[in-house]
Amino acid sequence: MSTTHRLLDSHAHLDFADFDHDRDALLTQMQQHCIGGCVLPGVSPEQWPKMRAIAEQYQLPYALGIHPWYLPNELEPAISALTQALDDAVSSSAAKLVALGECGLDKLRAKRMAEQGDADNWMRQLALFERQLQLAEHYQLPLIIHAVQCHGAMLELLAKYRLPRAGVIHGFSGSVEIAQQYWHSGWRLGIGGLLLNPQAKKLRAVVEQLPLAALLVETDAPDMTPVTSDSPRNTPLTILAVIAEIARLRKLSVVQVTEQLSNNAIQLFDY
Ligand SMILES: [Zn+2]
Repeated sequence: MSTTHRLLDSHAHLDFADFDHDRDALLTQMQQHCIGGCVLPGVSPEQWPKMRAIAEQYQLPYALGIHPWYLPNELEPAISALTQALDDAVSSSAAKLVALGECGLDKLRAKRMAEQGDADNWMRQLALFERQLQLAEHYQLPLIIHAVQCHGAMLELLAKYRLPRAGVIHGFSGSVEIAQQYWHSGWRLGIGGLLLNPQAKKLRAVVEQLPLAALLVETDAPDMTPVTSDSPRNTPLTILAVIAEIARLRKLSVVQVTEQLSNNAIQLFDY
């Protein structure tokens, strides 16, 4: 089956140092399990060069963006670096730029940072995110979005921009109602290893009730290690268990689910 070979982990930080010692072996293992690759998300200007080198070396799709945890001290130089990197990426054929991200808003982080004296962290997150929404609009790129404790504000903000390709709310863990609001506005939900946690009842309901077309699978490796794992490090191989769980919840075969989820990722990222 050709489609299963295109099976993509839609979110894995395989460029992080956690994988420096066994990246080659891991990619071989992924191929053996018909996982055709993963999307490498951008998190900061400092991280992009290594990520792009790894994307080129292994022919992996990647995204460019600034994560709210890597909030720059100065907004303007960071945005001009991003603009330059995007210009560079769209004119290069060495590896495929598939999205802008990961970017977004994290209210939990903002609260913690405010407690540590960074009172305007939330306002700076908002400013950084809005500039990235403008860039996604300009470059017509789908977005990979990190959204923690901020779905109301996020939905309102996304509606303000013309983003025909929309994107994915990565690592989704909200309610069915919120999931439906995103899906009805054209956004997909990134489902990861949290689904393997028996406590994750809200997420199970999302997977049971939303159309399969609304879902993408992802691992967020090396983080978000599922509770069922015996290794502290998460890897893209986890998507096999996530897909099996989706199939079980939907009472469909693994092959059917794999095919639909692969198509969703191909459609969104035009990969
Ligand atoms: Zn991530």
